[in-house]
Order: sequence, then C-alpha cells, then structure tokens
Amino acid sequence: MIVWLMKRTNTFAVRPLSDTGEQLLRDLLDASAALWNEVNYQRLMRYNDADGFEGDVWDADTGRLEGQYKGMLGTSTAQQVIRKNSEAWRGFFRLKEQYHDDSNTSVTEHPEPPGFRGNEEEGRQLKTVIRNDAYTVEWSKRSRLEILVGSELKDRYDHTGRLRLEISGDPNWPEYETQGRLDLWYDETDSTFRASQPVTVSDDARDTPLADETAALDIGANNLVACTTTTGQQYLYDGRELFQRFRETTREIARLQSKLEDGQYSSKRIRRLYRKRTRRRDHAQEALCRDLVERLYEDGVDTVYIGGLTDVLETHWSVDTNAKTHNFWAFKQFTERLSCTAEEYGISVEVRSEAWTSQECPQCGSTDRTTRHQDTLTCPCGFDGHADLTASETFLKRHADQTVRPMARPVRFEWDDHNWSELPCSPARDSPKEQRTDPSTVHHDGNLASGDS
Ligand SMILES: [Zn+2]
Repeated sequence: MIVWLMKRTNTFAVRPLSDTGEQLLRDLLDASAALWNEVNYQRLMRYNDADGFEGDVWDADTGRLEGQYKGMLGTSTAQQVIRKNSEAWRGFFRLKEQYHDDSNTSVTEHPEPPGFRGNEEEGRQLKTVIRNDAYTVEWSKRSRLEILVGSELKDRYDHTGRLRLEISGDPNWPEYETQGRLDLWYDETDSTFRASQPVTVSDDARDTPLADETAALDIGANNLVACTTTTGQQYLYDGRELFQRFRETTREIARLQSKLEDGQYSSKRIRRLYRKRTRRRDHAQEALCRDLVERLYEDGVDTVYIGGLTDVLETHWSVDTNAKTHNFWAFKQFTERLSCTAEEYGISVEVRSEAWTSQECPQCGSTDRTTRHQDTLTCPCGFDGHADLTASETFLKRHADQTVRPMARPVRFEWDDHNWSELPCSPARDSPKEQRTDPSTVHHDGNLASGDS
C-alpha cells in the first residue's frame, strides 16, 4: 500500500498555567532571541568585512555561543536557533544570487541580510524554535504542549521536567504521522503566545473529502484580490490604502536617495524605510491569505486558480505602473504564501494565464468593445458591472469543470493594520461609482488588463 504524506501546519495559541510559568516562558523566548541576535551579529560583521572579525559569515564561532546559551535553552534548542539563523543566511545568499542573475526576474528587490529579533527601543522580539523531539503535543479536551527548558531556567524558577502550556482551540490536523520543528513566539498585536507545528499527514486523513468546489482570483493593486467561487460567493479585498502607503514610502525612499552623497548608495534611514514597507505589505498579505483560505475552506473549495500576473503585465501595462505594482505585489511571494496557507487546508493552488478575461464581457463575450473606467466594466450590449469581480468570474468559468452558481451579494474587506474586516454594507457590485479610486493607477484609455485595478 502506498501512503502519500502531505505537509501541513497546525497553528494555535498557548497559555502558561501560572505567572511563574509565564515568566519562565518569557525568559526562554527572550534568551532565544538574544542568541539569535548574537549569532546574527557575528555573521553580519563578517559579511560587512568589519574590523576585528575574521573570515566570512560561516566562520563565526557559534559553538561558543551554543555553550553560553545551552544552560538557559537546553542544547537542542540552542542548536535549533543557530541552525535557523544559518538557514536565513543561506536563503539570503540564494536570493542575492537570483537578484544579480539577469535571466531571473523573480527577485525584484535587493534582498537584505537576516535581521535582528527586536530593537533597542522596543526590546527583543520573543521567539524560539524547538526541535521535533524536544516537545510533545497532546490533543484532547484539554490539549497541551510540553516543551524542554534548560537546567539554569529550571533552577531559577524551581521547576522540574518540561514546561506545560495549555492549548486553546482545535487543530486543523489532529492526526499526523510525524511532527517537525515547532515555532513558538509572543504575538504582541494581541498579547498571546502562539505556536506553529509542522506535521505530515497521510492522504486519507484529509478532513474535507467532499470539497470539490473551485475558486478563481483576480489580482490587482486597488483591489488586491477579487475572488469568485463556483458556489456563488464573491470576495473583494480593498488595497487602496495599502497601495497608497506603499507608494508614499517609495517616494520618500527616492527622495532620500536623491540626497545621498556621491559614492553612497544607501543609508540607515533608507534601509529602515525599505524594511517598514516590506513588513507592512507582508503582514497584510499574510493575513489576506489566511482570511481568504479559511473562507474558501468553509465554502468547500478544493482548487484555486490564480492568474499569472506577468503575462498581463508585459502586454498591457505601462512600464512605470508595471514596475510599481510588481514591487508592491511581490507576486511570486504572494502565490507561494497563498499555496502554503492553502496546503494547510488541503486546497491546491494553480497558476493559469488569465489573458483577456478582464476585458471580456460576460454577457456577449466581446473583448474589444468593452470599456473599463475605474472599477466599472461596461459594454455596448448593456452590461455594466464591477470590473475585477467580473474578471474573476469569467476566469473561473473558463477553468471550472462544474457550473458556476448564481452570484450572491459580494463581500468587501478592508485592512485596518491588523485584520481584514468585512464592511457592514458591501456595495461593491451595486454602486461602483461611489468608490474612491486612486486615479494614478487607473488607465483612461479604454480597455485595461486585470491587475491594474
Ligand atoms: Zn457585451
């Protein structure tokens, strides 16, 4: 018998059982962040050829640091933190290679070396990583996580054995074959400790055997994602605010760059702005993926089609808009992120060409008579609808095997820096003219490919 193993991830919130337990956990996460920072510092100095640091990145004496931290963390956790930092550096070097490779267009921003956990003003970012055999998870009515801690920490808090934490909520994948390295961190946005546990499950454990619906996504900058499902659901994620802020930061970076002295290519301030810009986008993108995938899962979707942004970009967009939107979207990163999140739910993501779908009239099929103005697509045959939602619907009909059910009222979401929240009334389809639109991202020359919306 062949058993297919699939990688999945359980993410859940955990709670210490006492104040002492919480303090111990904080010390453990803080020491892990401190170790990460020390290793990273040793490597960064060598990467920058700083005086007094011998050799290259890989010559940093991590053995000494491991020895210094193993009392607090336990040997295996100290090793994992160092290993994870090594992986981050290897990832950075790979990206850098791709960035400098002219035949490779997937990396458009110069990558940054791995960063530090936290900063001087706000303190360290509490986070650790635990080897697969150094923790146990028990799923039951009172689910719990037990993690290994170093002897020095145990002595400090007069604690014996592993540290027990209570798990809240149910896992997506309660039954699995093996577990991987656990990530454990403190989420400051809602003051909660969280963990993510990678697992492998055998194919027959998929808990959505009946899911066979399909969804299609249209990607853009004004509307980040317009989605239509074969069950008749439509979702629209508004990106105007985010795109606007992304462009403001980009302008500020350009202004600062123009003031640099000759021979200088960057500054601390510029690098900080780049990081801020990337972090804000990544946060919103990650939250969007999760919000959308959870909805699709509830709708019984098992396949998502996503349009390849590039084929549209090359033929229809001005170079300028093209580059800006491309940067903002980091499209490849988005598809990867979406695929990873979807995989947790047993949903597969397929990239397909969506050329012309955004100009096609769903009523008469014309592609050259339609006109797009801001968020509205109109056709001489009398059709008038929301351009991006229509595009995702057309795209869906082209790829779905099953019939697409009549559309319910679309649901709109807005980003508030933490969550994508549903707008109380969702007028996306009924009154597109009322919507604010950033005029600089809209073409007025009639037909327009999707993505720029
Ligand atoms: Zn028409």
